[in-house]
Amino acid sequence: MIDLRSDTVTRPTAAMRQVMAQADVGDDVYGDDPSVNALEAQVAERAGKAAALFLPTGTQANLVALLSHCQRGEEYIVGQKAHNYLYEAGGAAVLGSIQPQPLDAAEDGTLPLDKVIAAIKPDDIHFAPTRLLSLENTHNGKVLPLAYLQQAWQLTRERGLALHIDGARIMNAAVALGVELEAITRYCDSFTLCLSKGLGTPMGSLLCGPAEYIARARRWRKMTGGGMRQIGIMAAAGSYAMEHHVARLQEDHDNARWLEQQLRALDVEIVAPGAQTNILFVRLSDTRAAALGPWMRERGVLLNAGPVTRLITHLDVTRDQLGQVVNLWKAFLAEHA
Ligand SMILES: *Cc1c(COP(=O)(O)O)cnc(C)c1O
Repeated sequence: MIDLRSDTVTRPTAAMRQVMAQADVGDDVYGDDPSVNALEAQVAERAGKAAALFLPTGTQANLVALLSHCQRGEEYIVGQKAHNYLYEAGGAAVLGSIQPQPLDAAEDGTLPLDKVIAAIKPDDIHFAPTRLLSLENTHNGKVLPLAYLQQAWQLTRERGLALHIDGARIMNAAVALGVELEAITRYCDSFTLCLSKGLGTPMGSLLCGPAEYIARARRWRKMTGGGMRQIGIMAAAGSYAMEHHVARLQEDHDNARWLEQQLRALDVEIVAPGAQTNILFVRLSDTRAAALGPWMRERGVLLNAGPVTRLITHLDVTRDQLGQVVNLWKAFLAEHA
């Protein structure tokens, strides 16, 4: 099967499995797992942060991040379509009594700072105190410009807010910009990073930030059931991915751009053209949207087909396979004129 539904479908390579099989492990709840400690130290250092915490999922990493920034009855400003508002089952509200203040993102994935300023609540008993600005990078495949991040950082310093980046795909952002991770993460207090998407590990995310913040996060991770034991097997996969699977993200980006050009040549409507990373959106008529998924599945291609179909490139899809998808798409359009 050629699977373009998500980069979460990537499977560990033979070399990664080898590293996992040989990983040194211990009980991580006791702080005894050398592979976890190494991964946390490695990523914190690369990001220019004091500490990092390994968690099972990006959702839990974001939840723990929010719980560690905001008290009950406080507020975070977040994108209307941000993962840690829309796609995490309301965890911050349910488990933290943290109120979201969602804002519409601009086309480029940024939250316009004039709207952020307008949403910061004055010190008045009517309001939930605003504590945090949460950005997402990449957002729908869009890379937040460094100049924007710097302004957002400046604003949060002036207004006494913390700044968190949901960086599930932050390594895609760094590779797309051609910068080190630290060039992005210098503009945040904390950020999360997913190892299990384009980086290709079976599971795992990191939360990075200041030492006392991560110490608090460690308690929240335990409380939310994320204290794991001989999890160095997974952390070793993470270290391997940080070493061997970052630079190659450029291939996924080139493939997304190539696929975009090929589909455009077939007159497929591209949403927000100019793929910056590994994510592409195309618009389909309702009838084609209903037919495309099953039609492609029968021919060995998995898609989350809908009126807006998201296509994601990753390390388990080659350019040749994308060529097959383009040929199939052409045949599909001919059959569904
Ligand atoms: C996938 C994703 C997450 C959460 O990751 P899981 O590991 O699936 O829980 C968080 N934020 C963004 C932007 C994501 O794309």
